[in-house]
Amino acid sequence: MKRKSVWPVMLLLVLITACGGRKSGVAEKGARPALEMYVFDVGQIRVNDISQLNGGEEVEAPVIFTNTAFLIRHPKGDLIWDTGFADSVVHHPLGAPEDPYYSTMAKTLASQLKEIGVNPLGVEYLAVSHKHPDHSGNMNLFSESTVILQQVEYEALFESEEPGVDLESLRDNEFIRLEGEHDVFGDGSVRIIPTPGHTGGHQVLYVDMPQTGPVVLSGDLWLFNPGVKSQAVPLFNEDRSQTSDSWQKITKLLNDNNATLWVQHDRQQMERIPRSPEVIR
Ligand SMILES: [Zn+2]
Repeated sequence: MKRKSVWPVMLLLVLITACGGRKSGVAEKGARPALEMYVFDVGQIRVNDISQLNGGEEVEAPVIFTNTAFLIRHPKGDLIWDTGFADSVVHHPLGAPEDPYYSTMAKTLASQLKEIGVNPLGVEYLAVSHKHPDHSGNMNLFSESTVILQQVEYEALFESEEPGVDLESLRDNEFIRLEGEHDVFGDGSVRIIPTPGHTGGHQVLYVDMPQTGPVVLSGDLWLFNPGVKSQAVPLFNEDRSQTSDSWQKITKLLNDNNATLWVQHDRQQMERIPRSPEVIR
């Protein structure tokens, strides 16, 4: 029996091993979906009493939080992730400078979408991390989108007496109501992952960017970057033990995928990430 027949098998094994690792290098170039992302500045929050957010620890100086929204462009469609404060906040800040929270906005989300040639009525999917008005404020702009929410958050927004935001134009939209994870475009590149605790139906977004690598958009699962600042559960958190479980789950996801956490309210981190109209790939 000829021994040379072993070599094709070994070569095949080497190829399988090489392709099974992290998605990088030349081998898979061209096979990946051309994902693009735009990051929008949708307000800032001056927190005068940070003890509300860090579990009661006193801090003298006010802290400024950024507020961020994202457009993910996939060959199969667009997804808007979080929508910021309502655009009206540009003209009518929420609260006064001396209040515990003072929220302002420099530029509307509508104008930032227009700047990159995107009509909100053409955005296929809308998802928000959770119901709070700094994330759901502009949902109304997307009255043609399929809205993707955890069932619990859907009920909090659409079946409660006072949702806290104007949702009137969304009554006839299509909805995908989740009780778990959701692969938005069916190829694993953009995944919604439930992370209850901050609110009952809180969720985060995993996006596997072709050049930047995988990132997790935090919603309010974390308010400060855990790699930089110690964490405490905010006093208004809905379920502390769920938050703790969600922290563990996403920490494992980050480690397993060598992914980067983008903390949407963390000014130091978010100011280093290019803003729209610059595109991120
Ligand atoms: Zn928030």
